[in-house]
Amino acid sequence: MKLSGLRGKCLIIGDASVGKTSLLDRYVNDNFQEKYIQTLGANFMVKEVDLIDKLEGISDSDYYGDIKELKLYWWDLGGQKDKLFANEYYFGQAHGALIVFDVSNKESFESLDFWISKMTALTGDIPFIIIGNKCDKKKEITDQDIKKKVEGYKVEYFETSAKTNENVTLAFNSLAKKILNKTFS
Ligand code: GDP
Ligand code: MG
Repeated sequence: MKLSGLRGKCLIIGDASVGKTSLLDRYVNDNFQEKYIQTLGANFMVKEVDLIDKLEGISDSDYYGDIKELKLYWWDLGGQKDKLFANEYYFGQAHGALIVFDVSNKESFESLDFWISKMTALTGDIPFIIIGNKCDKKKEITDQDIKKKVEGYKVEYFETSAKTNENVTLAFNSLAKKILNKTFS
């Protein structure tokens, strides 16, 4: 769907404790907390990010013409599958999604299909990317398995660490660019 006015909505989806809230905190506030504060059920966090400020290397006029401000709202949804019904409402009318797993947690990798099919059912065909977070930790999934999965969905994949800040901005901006391309092409 078209961006409504100059605002877009992005979802951050994946199992509980893969680092969704941490990634957002790192991207938006350049902050990281060791302590785990669970994002519960229907609770969510919205962060407004000024894209023109964030997207380096793209001149305003290439994309927006006269538009000087374009914002994406990142919705950090709780990752409890059993409480998902309470969150389904928030999936609606999204423009893009980050699907996150934890590279040190095999179960979270195996949940990718669940989250992607859920997202597709609730939002339709929106741009998304897959993120393997906690790349500062020992990887419990083989590169081959990851490659197979990512190629199956034909999407971009990034390994990030909200802790060390590796690739975080790159991943978020990559999704933002996909949304912009789809909207303005
Ligand atoms: P969420 O449930 O997906 O929102 O996960 P959180 O963002 O709350 O993170 C869960 C736990 O993992 C917290 O204790 C974080 O400090 C930790 N964490 C998040 N990202 C990373 C990371 O990239 N590396 C490491 N080592 N820990 C992380
Ligand atoms: Mg959270």
